[in-house]
Amino acid sequence: MKQLLPMGYSPIEKIQEDLFDEHKLHVSVLREDKNHPLIQGNKLRKLTYNLLNSKKKGNKTLLTFGGAYSNHIAAVAAAGKEFGFHTIGIVRGEEKLPLNPTLSLCTQNGMELHYEDRTTYKLKNTQDYKEHLRNKFGSFYLIPEGGTNYYAINGCMEIIERYDEYDYICCPIGTGGTVAGITISNQGKSKILGFSSLKGGEFLTQEIRSQIHSVVNDEELTDEVLHSFELVTDFHFGGYAKITEDLLNFVRKFYSSHQIKWDLLYNGKMAYGVYEMIKQGFFPEHSRILLVHTGGIQGIAGIEERNNIRIYED
Ligand SMILES: *Cc1c(COP(=O)(O)O)cnc(C)c1O
Repeated sequence: MKQLLPMGYSPIEKIQEDLFDEHKLHVSVLREDKNHPLIQGNKLRKLTYNLLNSKKKGNKTLLTFGGAYSNHIAAVAAAGKEFGFHTIGIVRGEEKLPLNPTLSLCTQNGMELHYEDRTTYKLKNTQDYKEHLRNKFGSFYLIPEGGTNYYAINGCMEIIERYDEYDYICCPIGTGGTVAGITISNQGKSKILGFSSLKGGEFLTQEIRSQIHSVVNDEELTDEVLHSFELVTDFHFGGYAKITEDLLNFVRKFYSSHQIKWDLLYNGKMAYGVYEMIKQGFFPEHSRILLVHTGGIQGIAGIEERNNIRIYED
């Protein structure tokens, strides 16, 4: 298998804004969106040890699940092409042609797509359904929807491990696997703020607790690790995949000032939330704040298509 590295080191860029000066804050972005030319972002971190595990087990096929615009499905397809796995994507809902930008990228990368209606799709984690898949496709290495499992969390533990200490590390949340990995490797040094991209994401702290537990395997230690984590639920903008004019204006302005594109589903919402919290005086003066850019750039084209807009001019 080709080297998964270099992916360990992503640049950190300091951001200048009058707002930060007024509040005497240092704000930087960890460019995980640049960690690999093809797969990029947290999805690469989540896949790394799964790919190694699949290879070790002699599995040449990866099978996974996702919605039609899923960054995870796109990453599995790209990783399959790059590292020599056959890939199968089980997509929620009916086939729509022409394929949207995400799924067309998947097929270009050799992924075999299968569609399941929403009722069947809900059964994806049951033994019966997995049995059905094995009968249909033969042997494969299964990666869950969104990519979060034990191996994924271990991969995400490498995101911040080589960097200086920050007072706050901010990260968007979908399933929570990424922020769980970051929180474990942080070892209590920074406050970790996780921004839910879901409406009603209050359950996520419990979810992240059990993900941390799956790695550290001890109740007391789990609570100790979880202590540095704080869930922020105010910036979902109406729910997962919902966007507003305000959010659009924010990411456009940020791009024109700093030449960094945020995806709209996760990072744009987190960054917007951080700016709001700064205005509200959440962060003490002289805090050093790190925003983890988790990638998701492939999803921008899909959002543009669905909403019939251009987000960035280039
Ligand atoms: C999937 C994804 C997330 C969410 O990661 P989880 O580990 O599921 O919490 C965040 N940002 C981007 C860009 C993603 O694609």
